[in-house]
Amino acid sequence: MATMNAEKQALLDAIERDRDMLVDFFARFVGTPSPNPPGDTRKAVAHIARFLEAQGHAFRLVDPDPLQANVVGTTDGAAPGKHLVLNGHIDVFPVEEGDARWTHGPWSGAVADGKVWGRGACDMKAGTTASIMTYHYLSRMRSRWKGRLTLTCVSDEETFGPMGARHLVEKVPEVLGDCLLNGEPSSPFSIRFGEKGPLWLAFEVRTRGAHGAYVHASENAAKLAARLIQDLEAVTEIRPDMPPDVARALAEARETTDRAMGPGSADIVPRVTLNIGRVAGGLKVNMVADRVRVEADIRLPVGVELATVMAEVEKVLARHPQATMEVINFQPPSSCDPFSEMVGHLQDNVQHLRGFRPKPIVSLGGTDARLWRYRAIPAYVYGPPPAGMGSFDEHVSIDDFLHVVRSHVLSAYDYLSRG
Ligand SMILES: [Zn+2]
Repeated sequence: MATMNAEKQALLDAIERDRDMLVDFFARFVGTPSPNPPGDTRKAVAHIARFLEAQGHAFRLVDPDPLQANVVGTTDGAAPGKHLVLNGHIDVFPVEEGDARWTHGPWSGAVADGKVWGRGACDMKAGTTASIMTYHYLSRMRSRWKGRLTLTCVSDEETFGPMGARHLVEKVPEVLGDCLLNGEPSSPFSIRFGEKGPLWLAFEVRTRGAHGAYVHASENAAKLAARLIQDLEAVTEIRPDMPPDVARALAEARETTDRAMGPGSADIVPRVTLNIGRVAGGLKVNMVADRVRVEADIRLPVGVELATVMAEVEKVLARHPQATMEVINFQPPSSCDPFSEMVGHLQDNVQHLRGFRPKPIVSLGGTDARLWRYRAIPAYVYGPPPAGMGSFDEHVSIDDFLHVVRSHVLSAYDYLSRG
């Protein structure tokens, strides 16, 4: 194993010394509920603010909605240089009231069996803690690096809301640096440099309707909807026009992609996918259905434009005059340089810490990192495995948590101390 330079070894030693403090901060963070909806994150924001205040670190609250504030801190190194931004979200998925499947209560932040348990442990209070601690350790040694480091902990992520990262990138220019690092759940074996873009469409099929015996009197909206759904599969035949470096990274990371997101995911990362998430309609078994709503979740890979998909959808609609369509949500796919300096730092540090090199991949799901990529700022996600994410018994092992902290701290230091 290669030896680390003195500063980096000192950072690792400090993390080892502070192990109990780090786990305690993380577990209490998980133990402070911040479900969204409803999205009131005041107590979780106070948990972060208390720590930063006690350590004497610069920060302020940016709160277009005081119930869901964002924590923003900026600190400068010894000389001008590059600007690294750290980003994580404070809000978490909600939990169904009385869900008895949790071994430890969803808001317990229990530390047991070498793991921290509770809603938001992996998505993403482990990663947000890594951002906060990276800001903490690097702020304490500002004379040893150049440039600027900005911390952004945001409140309104889980619902694609406007009060969190979207507000910051639009209204607070200091959060737009030269590179972004984020600890959303992913896998220790992969670095996410891009993500697919969701396009959610709602179709409404309407007919006259009739008595169920009088099928000659009206077209059936349910049967028409079934044909419409079949025809929509055409979008999955669209082929992407990928930048060559993205195509190369994906080809080199097929195994890693399947490992990170499940067998079969490498096949669909570069494809348009169609999920029919919801079908509702009809009134009664002995009536001809006169109204059916179909909600489709289409995912665009890097290299496919919205216009290309919509042209296919319009062709389908032209064959179904009984159907209307509306767009519920669209986020373009995003990507950045898969072989950048930051990717190299993360790979070198993980190699040192764990003995393997994570590979750059594109993820299926979305994160706030896309908002930086939309502005041509390279943005990378390196976080813990998604155990129990969006389900029950969400947890992160203390080893995985500390690994993400170490990887972020060392890579941020490398980025700001070189070149
Ligand atoms: Zn998340």
